[in-house]
Amino acid sequence: MILSRRAFLHLGSSAYLTPWAGGQQPVIDRAIDLPGSDRYRMACKLFNSRLEPKPAAVKKCFSDDEVIAGIKWARAQKKSISIKSGGHCFEGYCMADDSLSLDMSGMNKMSFDQNAKTLTVEPGATLRQINDFLLAKGRVLPAGSCAGVGIGGLTLGGGYGLLARQYGLTCDQLTALRMIDAQGAVHPCEGDHELLKACRGGGNGNFGVITQFRFRTRKAPTHLYHRRFKATHLTPEKVSLLLETWFASTQELPRDAFSAFVLNGKSLTVLLTHTDLESQAGITEKMKPLAKLVDTVTRYYAPLYPAAIKAYYGRPGPLPFKNACAGMLQGFAELKGVVEALARQVADTGGVIWQCNTLGGAIQDAAYKEASVFAHRDCNYMSEIQGYWDDPKREAAVIKAVDAIQTSLADHGIRRHYCNYPDRNFTHPQKSYFGDLGFLQKIKLQYDPDDVFHHPQGVRV
Ligand SMILES: Cc1cc2nc3c(=O)[nH]c(=O)nc-3n(C[C@H](O)[C@H](O)[C@H](O)COP(=O)(O)OP(=O)(O)OC[C@H]3O[C@@H](n4cnc5c(N)ncnc54)[C@H](O)[C@@H]3O)c2cc1C
Repeated sequence: MILSRRAFLHLGSSAYLTPWAGGQQPVIDRAIDLPGSDRYRMACKLFNSRLEPKPAAVKKCFSDDEVIAGIKWARAQKKSISIKSGGHCFEGYCMADDSLSLDMSGMNKMSFDQNAKTLTVEPGATLRQINDFLLAKGRVLPAGSCAGVGIGGLTLGGGYGLLARQYGLTCDQLTALRMIDAQGAVHPCEGDHELLKACRGGGNGNFGVITQFRFRTRKAPTHLYHRRFKATHLTPEKVSLLLETWFASTQELPRDAFSAFVLNGKSLTVLLTHTDLESQAGITEKMKPLAKLVDTVTRYYAPLYPAAIKAYYGRPGPLPFKNACAGMLQGFAELKGVVEALARQVADTGGVIWQCNTLGGAIQDAAYKEASVFAHRDCNYMSEIQGYWDDPKREAAVIKAVDAIQTSLADHGIRRHYCNYPDRNFTHPQKSYFGDLGFLQKIKLQYDPDDVFHHPQGVRV
């Protein structure tokens, strides 16, 4: 659209600008927001307020055509492209410095096929929006728990949550997608298409812009059964014993169960959930050794599933934090020798939490493994480190403690990580995140040989 000077001024400082090539007439694209404008400032706010992204420009997209226009603009300006859906990336890779960030948060339309029971959804839809939409139909998409996470980034890196052991990762439910590549070409794909496989665990900002997903959905559980185990005033030795016991108790949980070991200061909370009432007796039996070691075990409570999951929606952002994957694990053996030091480090700095979550179950099904590049299916657990502060003066101390924990874990040989929980300090991120790098490089060459979609920790060719 070519605007008169008056119309241009009327649009204000956020209305811009032009890939101006030689003697051609400038094309004013009012949807490109550049530094200095209010819209740019607003667009650069991420869920993690610790991050101060400095993209060269932001383009909010509402259609495939706008995505294509953005890609053309970036190529003309010789800018790389980063892609933002829900804006929850721990390190802000959705708004990489000096890139054009394509903001997909406005592309959040959904539809449900009643016969096939499939969900078609654009990448900017949040987990809360998807839950609201599907639960009204008695259906659910196995996904993460926090309300504001975007389905775009979550799916492309894997996506795990309370139902993952029962049904697999979010990417395992993915049956089709549409992607726009570095040339602006549109690729719909389904079935055993290699691009679909690459996007199940390796698709975050690597090959192109996914503008639509289709997922199979599952019958929503009626209830979520919960129970918590708590212990306080823990010594490092006691943490080690509790952790070893928890690992032993959770090795063979039924598929509908999930557990998390959450160490916060000198206190422990173990969360246990499941969706099938029949699992209760067996789980109670398995958790008996842990129950004997803790201070309290809550009674079971069983809210209706739609209400229960809201308890896991998390704090509304933006808020400052430093979180990262602290290792994909097979069992206690990998942590033995470092647990006591870890417990001391967590106890020493207020605001630091170390958490370990159960994986396994359906995540390890051969069909899902075959059809995806998610690299950690053999891992029964994922641990994460979290650092929070309310007072900005605490930021440096918390980050220092988180970094020190990451260093001691890496020194202990824990180097496999979930790409959706990135840490900019990982020394070999591609090796840590991805399995079949050769396959991912082949897909990268096919759709983005010039690395226009340059992800700071992405696939390199
Ligand atoms: C509070 C919180 C809770 C979380 N809970 C869970 C959880 O329960 N389970 C879980 O598995 N993960 C969880 N995560 C991690 C989450 O999966 C990742 O942060 C995920 O990448 C977020 O997706 P997004 O679209 O919100 O983020 P964004 O920051 O927008 O994107 C993340 C990455 O994906 C890429 N990307 C986004 N959209 C597209 C697209 N359309 N096409 C191509 N690439 C794209 C971006 O380039 C970026 O690299 C949580 C994160 C936070 C902050």
